Amino acid sequence: MNTDHAKMLYGISELNSLFEENSIEQFLQKTVNMVAQHMNAEVCSIYIYNEHDKKLTLKATQGLNPDIVNHLSIGLGEGLAGTALLERRIICEKAGKDNSNFKYYPESGEIDSDSFLISPIIRGIYSIGVLVVQRGKGHFFDENDIMAIEATASQLETLLEHVKHITQPAGRSDKPYFEPDKFHFFKGKTGSQGCFRAPLMIKPVDKNPNIIAKELNGCGFTIADFEEAIEKTYTHLELIQKKIEEKLADAASLIFASHLLMLKDNGFTGAMRELILAGRGVTDAVMDIFLKYKKIFSESPNALIKEKTQDIEDLASEILNNLLNKSRDEGIYKDHIIVARELFPSELLMLSADGIAGIVLVSGGVTSHVGILARSLMIPIVIINNPLLLAIPNGTDALIDADVGNLYINPTPEVLHNFDMQRAAKDVISTAKSEAAGKSVTLDGAAASVLLNINLISDLKQIEIENIDGIGLYRTEFPFMIRDSFPSEEEQYFIYRKLISGMAGKPVTFRTLDIGGDKALAYYDFPNEKNPFLGMRSIRFSLEHIGIFKQQIRAILRAGQGADLKIMFPMISSLDEFLSAKDIVKQCIYELYKSGTGHNSSPGIGMMVEIPSLLPVIDDLAKETDFFSIGTNDLIQYTLAVDRTNEKVSSLYIPHHPAILRALKQIADAAIKAGIDVSVCGDMANKELYIPFIIGIGITSLSVDAMYIPRVKRAIRAIDLSKAKLFAERLLTLTRIDEIEAALREPEVK
Ligand code: PEP
Ligand code: MG
Repeated sequence: MNTDHAKMLYGISELNSLFEENSIEQFLQKTVNMVAQHMNAEVCSIYIYNEHDKKLTLKATQGLNPDIVNHLSIGLGEGLAGTALLERRIICEKAGKDNSNFKYYPESGEIDSDSFLISPIIRGIYSIGVLVVQRGKGHFFDENDIMAIEATASQLETLLEHVKHITQPAGRSDKPYFEPDKFHFFKGKTGSQGCFRAPLMIKPVDKNPNIIAKELNGCGFTIADFEEAIEKTYTHLELIQKKIEEKLADAASLIFASHLLMLKDNGFTGAMRELILAGRGVTDAVMDIFLKYKKIFSESPNALIKEKTQDIEDLASEILNNLLNKSRDEGIYKDHIIVARELFPSELLMLSADGIAGIVLVSGGVTSHVGILARSLMIPIVIINNPLLLAIPNGTDALIDADVGNLYINPTPEVLHNFDMQRAAKDVISTAKSEAAGKSVTLDGAAASVLLNINLISDLKQIEIENIDGIGLYRTEFPFMIRDSFPSEEEQYFIYRKLISGMAGKPVTFRTLDIGGDKALAYYDFPNEKNPFLGMRSIRFSLEHIGIFKQQIRAILRAGQGADLKIMFPMISSLDEFLSAKDIVKQCIYELYKSGTGHNSSPGIGMMVEIPSLLPVIDDLAKETDFFSIGTNDLIQYTLAVDRTNEKVSSLYIPHHPAILRALKQIADAAIKAGIDVSVCGDMANKELYIPFIIGIGITSLSVDAMYIPRVKRAIRAIDLSKAKLFAERLLTLTRIDEIEAALREPEVK
């Protein structure tokens, strides 16, 4: 790439600040000027697309007649620009006028251009607009230009989506047409099970202060309006805080503490007040101070300060929304099925505090942990990739059946009848909950342990403690994910202690922080990694941030005093890594001992087996660890190189792939040989299909979500261990996936 292009890309990366500091018109104009200059083009134009009338409208240009800005509209598929967007491809033409799609617009004032380079601007499934550059005869665009325009278009996606949002407001003219009173059926994927019938409501998309401020442009607010907005913000945050505390014990300590403190801070709201009194407009004053703090926080090398950037954004948008009088009416989401484009764990938590009935996620914007958290909160989620859903009017009657991933809009009496029948059948099954009680013993008398996976302490409400053999997996990242900053050691201690004291002396296995990859923390700016699933995540994050790691370990050890405590590390990839992590636990024990702080001095220290590199060295690991816990979710993902969150490859995510079955056998053998415990805590453990195999290879401990306890016990009780062993041996000899599938369906283990 030549230097001019490199300079341009550098310039483009500055577009964000251009967006923040200018009006929309100025921003678009400066962008086309910059692109034209760096690409040596006579003409550069930006068009924005409106889904409603399927037209592209010219929004800024250098080189065409400026009077046609906002007036020139091109149909989708019309001319070269319309074709680029329709076909979602870059068009590069040496002699554009010879192209059969070319269309001349006399009012554009365009005379000499002949070389065209046109990039569609697309965000996921959404069409945003088109970027066009043109040069005179003989002055062709080359490969470097194509790369440059592609990069520019991708930088522009988000910003232009915001522009589009503001310039095509309230009537939501960007929505595809939806026939409101008809019956519609959408098939999606389950994010979290459950069924509900309730009215739908579309969740507003944006919480970006820049966008709200632009909406407020020209409103003459007074200092009294400002004070009222601050007051409203404070009351609202306190209310959410209270609701969350009622719902989730883990969140009992102040989740919004830093927000509330900042609202009272002289340097923040105080500085805004001073500016207003000195004559600055209210919106500008809020934005000035917001941008000042955003810059300071986001540029801080200190992770704990950097994480405050999100708080500042949240707060600024709350204040601005309250000025706009757009504060959420409390409870508007209550008993509604929410349709959202994307969802973060903290938002899910707020919605749950509001008492929503379910969620429909429209784009793939769901991390596996939003799904897991929703299960803890018992909120049904269906994921459906169809933008039409965003066009459904609020209040439309809907039925969400997240058990199978279905959404019915305006359900017909027939659908409702079928649904009631199914529900009645399910109720019969759920009376089988008595199956959760008692020991799980095979037909020939071999005992197996059934342990519980939990994410939040509230999960314990779903079961009777006497029906489980302990906690096999506590995903401790959840209390981290639902907060707006890293919980302190004291906060963690409080949560962990609460869990342990509710467990009646049964074993509790804490998995240390497993974040990164698709498990983001809203307040922590994870480095931009090309491949986050292979990046700085999980135990790597903990070993890189020893301070955070030690705080967690100390909190666990203190809370675990007198308890049957086990600690395990996620995503271990080598013996060295395990020993380093184990060493930190030993250091913490020593430090707590030295300081005379009560703690558990001999926890079991084990590891998750979920990375394939462990397999060849599994015997070495078995000698050093107290136990293995097999995380089949990630083991499958990494062994088969199939992203567990990517729907497009979900058919390749095959738990019974011979490589997985043999890996499980190898891990079980190593554990049995070394005389250590081994359990499965990934989702394979809750599937009746796989339980005979797992038991058959000698793994007698399964850890599953509360809702699966009855069926797992039922499955174990239906197995004859000696037959299961033979069955497992036979499965291990099979080489083809379909043969294994057939054998699994006829297990012959009774
Ligand atoms: C697993 O990977 O199987 C597992 C239990 O961990 P998580 O689902 O939290 O990644
Ligand atoms: Mg895992």
